[in-house]
Amino acid sequence: MTSTPRHDPKRDDLHWRTEHESITESDHFLRDVVANAELPPLLAALAAATRNPALLREDLRPELTPVDTVGHPHGGMSPETQERAREVAFEALRRLRDEAITSVDTLPSDEVEHLLGYLTRGTTKWYDSLKHELDLAPDKNGAPDWSFADVAGERPFEVLIVGSGVAGVAAAHRYRQAGVPFTQIESADRMAGTWAKNRYPGVRLDTPTFAYSYSFAQRADWPHQFAQGAEIEEYLVDVAQRAGILDDIEFGTRLLSARWDEEDGVWVTVTRTADGERTRRFNAVVSGVGQLDLPNIPDVPGAETFRGVTMHSQEWDPSYDWSGKRVAVVGTGASAYQIVPAMHRDVASLTVFQRSAPWMLPAPAYHDSMSEAFAWLVRKVPHFGQWFRLWTMVLGTPGRFHTVRAEEGWEGAPLSVSPTNQKVREELIGRLREQFEGREDLFKIAVPHYPPGAKRMLRDNGVWAEALRAEHTAVSTSPIAALTETGILTEDGTHHEVDLIVWATGFKPSDYLDGVEVVGRDGITVHEYWKGDARAHNGVTVPGFPNFFMLYGPNVGGVVAGSLHFMIERAVEYSLKAVREVLTREVKAIDVTPEALDEFLAWVDAENRQMAWGQPYVRTWYQNKDGRVSQVWPFTNAEYWEITERIDPDEHEFLD
Ligand code: NAP
Repeated sequence: MTSTPRHDPKRDDLHWRTEHESITESDHFLRDVVANAELPPLLAALAAATRNPALLREDLRPELTPVDTVGHPHGGMSPETQERAREVAFEALRRLRDEAITSVDTLPSDEVEHLLGYLTRGTTKWYDSLKHELDLAPDKNGAPDWSFADVAGERPFEVLIVGSGVAGVAAAHRYRQAGVPFTQIESADRMAGTWAKNRYPGVRLDTPTFAYSYSFAQRADWPHQFAQGAEIEEYLVDVAQRAGILDDIEFGTRLLSARWDEEDGVWVTVTRTADGERTRRFNAVVSGVGQLDLPNIPDVPGAETFRGVTMHSQEWDPSYDWSGKRVAVVGTGASAYQIVPAMHRDVASLTVFQRSAPWMLPAPAYHDSMSEAFAWLVRKVPHFGQWFRLWTMVLGTPGRFHTVRAEEGWEGAPLSVSPTNQKVREELIGRLREQFEGREDLFKIAVPHYPPGAKRMLRDNGVWAEALRAEHTAVSTSPIAALTETGILTEDGTHHEVDLIVWATGFKPSDYLDGVEVVGRDGITVHEYWKGDARAHNGVTVPGFPNFFMLYGPNVGGVVAGSLHFMIERAVEYSLKAVREVLTREVKAIDVTPEALDEFLAWVDAENRQMAWGQPYVRTWYQNKDGRVSQVWPFTNAEYWEITERIDPDEHEFLD
């Protein structure tokens, strides 16, 4: 497919809205709205809409108190500051109404910096990565500022984009904007990746919705604070439609292999569809195949004898009616945490098989809709939704790092890693004590034996405890010994009779690119190169595999801070910069050096070793089989911004 660039660098937002509804409501109504609004993003939106940066007075700055177990409303503003801020916001809202202000255009750079200074307490180090997320910034620096036609002329060049989930959609959009010809394939028969596959009861986001969207598609009218799975799927399909990429995706097409042809400087790929295999040649491959995609189903003796139904959480069979059945859910991670509360009321019995208890962070609004006041602000205050999104990015930049950084010699190990981590531990245990009051049996097994943050922390609004306490629910902590014809036998000798076994046992996240044979320059496969320890420079490139770019590759997953979309978009932009180098230098390919990869890994590994998940006594899916933390990005968005800003020629070999 040949594409033409059609981006507007000024408004790099597929959900851009020029006009908002007029405000017609009374002063009384406006006061009510202000009383129920998050103040820093509201003030920023009003300062932008009224083009009055002076509105953001020094004495109205949020403290930016870091998120501990919970976020602090209004960024930790004191009650007095909140009162003053409400007064200012009220007056500005009246001005919007009285002067009929219903739109705002891209802002000048100095105003953007002033607004960012207000929201971040002047943390200039974050500005560039935050501008990337602000659709009113004139220098967002996300869309390509070059076009294939200008750079490549008549040179034949085509890229293969693999996947149409969050990563594949981002790649296709940006490559299309640059006009780089590409083919996009998807092994499934529908797009949206993990959000098309995960259809288990209760599936929804466990990170705030506004932080889970693209900088170039800033939907503002989200219905829920933590979007339901189907809402994310709809969003992705909608973005693909708006970006004009949906109709060209080749569905039902799986990449089997990609072999580098050094002579011609191309990847020779084999794809498979229902009609058979096809060999095609591409100049570059962009892999958006996902990370949490390969189900991990324990190898349990007797599994083949079980006569009931089994499903992995990702392979849910919606045609099976589980109501009134005896159900086993194995695992207590993010998926189980959503499945168990969604099912427990409608089953005959539910047994949860717990190997280790999860840490849960308070999230009282976990199942809530956006408030009416919020929806009103989105409709009536120009770009309020975009400012709110930016605010979640501001708070998510430092995130919870300070709660998981390990202190050397800390005597609380292995249950906590520092005094702050111990404080979090005690606070969360306090909640568990309350939630399981009168059920000492459950409280005892609900307290994890590892530090908070060592594994992914879940969002808690009380429904997990409620489900475990329910009359028909039981929790088994004895390891599973075998499956029988009619159920699960645990090592304590108990036989649990069940009709349905749900394997909520996670994925094989360390097996990047599993199922695809990628053969590089020396004739070895990427898995032979990795030997079980997936490594990629900046999470994107692997030495010996020229013009091969991984999106959401090793070591770029944020777990207590940052945004998945930010990391993916930056990887896409970085890959496009590499493609541009290849085109402008008129070479066949770019290959990262092993030295550059080693240096990157030394930097990332050293930081990960300082974190709860990097402690030698911790076992988590963030680590691979060798114990190296191969999943997690231990820095903020700002550091990833810096390292993906340019292709360093000293770190690369150019193949001509
Ligand atoms: P997971 O977090 O890896 O949890 C798997 C669970 O299964 C753990 O409790 C694990 O116990 C248990 N387990 C694994 N093997 C077992 C065995 N042989 N016997 C007994 N128990 C076993 O997997 P997940 O819940 O599917 O979540 C994976 C990741 O997907 C999450 O961390 C998150 O990043 C993502 N996710 C996101 C959302 C969302 O945003 N809404 C929802 C679901 C998943 P141990 O803890 O002892 O290993």
